[in-house]
Amino acid sequence: MNTEPAKQKTAEPIKVYVGLGSNIEQPLLQIKKAISALNGLPGSRVLADSGFFASKPMGPQDQPDFINAVVVLETTLSADELLNYCQLIESRQGRIKTRRWGERSIDLDILLYGNQQIMTGDLTVPHPGICERDFVYLPLLKLDPEILIPGAGLLSNIVESATASG
Ligand code: ADP
Ligand code: MG
Repeated sequence: MNTEPAKQKTAEPIKVYVGLGSNIEQPLLQIKKAISALNGLPGSRVLADSGFFASKPMGPQDQPDFINAVVVLETTLSADELLNYCQLIESRQGRIKTRRWGERSIDLDILLYGNQQIMTGDLTVPHPGICERDFVYLPLLKLDPEILIPGAGLLSNIVESATASG
């Protein structure tokens, strides 16, 4: 008979990149609050942040400019759990659904979840906008110039060839 006490299985922490954006209700403060909320999630800590990047709105132009940032997080949360927490942080910070690509107090997108490729009804990872949106790829490359996009390759190469071909 095995008399060993049952060992608690602890999940290996996964490196996750989360993109943040805000353009209303004190964007800088919103981003800082969300970073600290991410750092306080169960089994999670923020390892580094990209600093702040200003960007023009993607959709309707009759709205304020955005502030964006990317953080790298170490977490034992599953991708689904993390998405739920991101949505909770958004709603706690007063995110209201408006028009598509409209103004928002805070937006949290899971950009990369380890080296996983995920496609469910609720979640697409790597986030499909990474390689086209400078306010996403610039902060990512600042955090890690050698960063790999699972299924696509080196982000720096992808961005470079896209720029070269216009
Ligand atoms: P957007 O970020 O494109 O402006 P929303 O923040 O309103 O849009 O998110 C819309 C939906 O996107 C969410 O309900 C979520 O289920 C889905 N989604 C799919 N992939 C991701 C991802 N990688 N990170 C965050 N949300 C995602
Ligand atoms: Mg979003």
